[in-house]
Amino acid sequence: MSDRVLVINSGSSSLKYQLVDVDSGTALASGLVERIGEETGDVVHRSVDGEPIKLQVKIADHAAGLRLAFDMLERTGMSLSGSSIAAVGHRVVHGGEVFYRPTLITDEVMKEIDRLSALAPLHNPANIIGIESARELLPQVPHVAVFDTAFFHGLPDAAATYAIDSEVAREHGIRRYGFHGTSHEYVSGQVAQVLGRPLDQLKQIVLHLGNGASASAVRYGRAIDTSMGMTPLEGLVMGTRCGDIDPGIIMHLRRSADMDVDQIDQLLNRRSGLKGLCGDNDFREVRRMIESGDSAAQLAYDVYVHRLRRYIGAYMIELGGVDAITFTAGVGENSPTVRADALAGLESFGIAIDQDRNNSQSRAARVISIDDARVKVLVVPTNEELAIARASIACIAAD
Ligand code: AMP
Repeated sequence: MSDRVLVINSGSSSLKYQLVDVDSGTALASGLVERIGEETGDVVHRSVDGEPIKLQVKIADHAAGLRLAFDMLERTGMSLSGSSIAAVGHRVVHGGEVFYRPTLITDEVMKEIDRLSALAPLHNPANIIGIESARELLPQVPHVAVFDTAFFHGLPDAAATYAIDSEVAREHGIRRYGFHGTSHEYVSGQVAQVLGRPLDQLKQIVLHLGNGASASAVRYGRAIDTSMGMTPLEGLVMGTRCGDIDPGIIMHLRRSADMDVDQIDQLLNRRSGLKGLCGDNDFREVRRMIESGDSAAQLAYDVYVHRLRRYIGAYMIELGGVDAITFTAGVGENSPTVRADALAGLESFGIAIDQDRNNSQSRAARVISIDDARVKVLVVPTNEELAIARASIACIAAD
């Protein structure tokens, strides 16, 4: 059987895909289809060798976007026909309380994912469109859903429960689900490998710092807390999302600013975080603004680091000490400044970063703490596509 998996991550107007060779753990090709449904859409396709192929054409819907992607794969010598791929793995954001392991997609499963759209109105409907299109175009292949919430399914009740009326919470599925689980699980597994220690003996904090950002506390391979909650809005300061705020602010905006629910949703999801504080959500740009003396950018950065340190501190206590703190995703993997500031002055807790290691441009998973530090600090590139591909293979093998 082929061990290639096509991984699809479908957003509301975009599609990311990657053809993964699970045996070698490498991406054979990948691409991004953007501006689906707009006047002109963009496609960028990359294969291992050769220049990226770029296209600008109208892309009517997700099915048309996928057809273009499949075309590019065929054109660059990667067939999807017959048995050339073992499965299609789909990233699905919300699995609710129902889905907590990779799941073979059937019509019944689709109905359930659709039902969960109430909990993730920005994400699950977009995931569903991608899955439906892909099932239509590749009916001969098993399709597997891998859920962003799954790794956090077993959170202890004390970490998963909001202190609101329990009847209301039960009726409306209000609890903490957590997101970015595929990344937190993958990265915490990699940490054990890099350190050469068993996963089930490590207490870890994983900091996934990308445009979306989340922290997790992982004890002996299982997540015991995470910063995102019922939705991916809670927790750390993000590119455009506010993270933790006083819920009273929402009532205040409703009453005093006469904003409706959609306007508040837009404000907190798209016009907050770094962007809300200084006008830009790209971390590189925020750093450039700080260097040119922009005080709003400096404050945005300070709020970002303050929140991060607050979570690190909380998780050190929850875990009862920590063996490894790991940075991953766009900011975590690429910003030595954030890493240094997030962990500054914690030598008395056994945390000390080696400056040269921190500043190294290496793309490899690596330790950046000083040799005799009690707590290992690492940078580990995340690879959600590989994790989804592996999970898909395991799912069809078990079926
Ligand atoms: P992700 O969501 O994981 O793709 O991460 C996106 C974020 O990573 C954006 O805020 C980028 O500005 C940030 N990023 C990417 N490269 C760098 C870099 N070299 N230094 C700092 N931030 C970066």
